[in-house]
Amino acid sequence: MKMTTIERRICNKCHQNKKLSKFRDNKMTCLKCEYRFSQRLMRTLVKQRRLSPIERIANRLGYMGSGFIMMSPYLITYDNIGYITYVTGALLSIPQVWVGKQWNIVIVNINLLIGYGTRLF
Ligand SMILES: [Zn+2]
Repeated sequence: MKMTTIERRICNKCHQNKKLSKFRDNKMTCLKCEYRFSQRLMRTLVKQRRLSPIERIANRLGYMGSGFIMMSPYLITYDNIGYITYVTGALLSIPQVWVGKQWNIVIVNINLLIGYGTRLF
């Protein structure tokens, strides 16, 4: 018995099961959906990309750093532990904002480092 399988694919936009000829190579959206005006507009606005390993590490460090910065105001009254957590928080946050090229926040973090770093010594 010979099995004939017509390759089909489900469009991720209209969720209809369509023949492969209705799709462009390696595309998940059918041609009809792809050429709708709104879809085209969104395609031009959104750039799809994956995070590089460095960006991932920087992201996680950034979350840790913001945790440190968040708890610092409450720890400052306890033997100035808050200053140490401020400085470590700023150090951990800098890679994320540096990789993301958010220079204003880089400046804020450096300012935090200088301000609370001088308070430490
Ligand atoms: Zn479709």
